[in-house]
Amino acid sequence: MKLLMENWRQFINEMEEPITTLRIFDFDETIAHTQSETRVTAPDGSTDVLRNQKEFEQYMNTAAEREGINAFDPIDQLVELGYKIDLSDFSIVKDPSEITLVTDIMRNFPGDSKTYIVTARRGNSIGPILEYLDEIGIDSNQVRPIATEGESKGDTIANMIAQKIMPDGKSNIRRIEYYEDSQRNIDDVLQKICQNENLDRIKPDDFELIVYKVSRIDSDYNLEEITC
Ligand SMILES: [Mg+2]
Repeated sequence: MKLLMENWRQFINEMEEPITTLRIFDFDETIAHTQSETRVTAPDGSTDVLRNQKEFEQYMNTAAEREGINAFDPIDQLVELGYKIDLSDFSIVKDPSEITLVTDIMRNFPGDSKTYIVTARRGNSIGPILEYLDEIGIDSNQVRPIATEGESKGDTIANMIAQKIMPDGKSNIRRIEYYEDSQRNIDDVLQKICQNENLDRIKPDDFELIVYKVSRIDSDYNLEEITC
């Protein structure tokens, strides 16, 4: 009888999964606008300063194409080919200005959710990002940071959905709210979450992905909602 009760209790605990929502925030140009630049020297000696995400993606895409690289993140392979890519501004939070449209949402932590920062930055940037959150009054203890180091955010989020499977064979995650400025990352996440046969089997019937695309218009910010 005792065993039966314990099994029952465990079953009830599993049925009453408290976390059903993941809130996922990019950092750069989503939580804060920073003055980070990337300085690049190509193997032919030509130099460039990439002032923002757009210039960064354009440069890396063009260089990857020129060198015949197909990886999602071509940086490591470009470095092997002799490109010098100085990402040191991204190991700190350089001259940040807070994007309050997003941080005002972030700072309220609903009880049924887990909050993540998923940044394409390198791992050594995590400490400064968490310190910055505390500076702007967001409790960093309630935020789990993940540095994808340029790898696919879509793969990272798909893994999060598959983390916990309930007794009915479905994920405990019913809703994902994803705040991001990069269209490249948004396209990747839409593709890996909305059109993924492996995930379809474990997505609850009422599963929702809501992407909030952060865009800057002059000095104002705007959130655009995109769903599957
Ligand atoms: Mg960003």
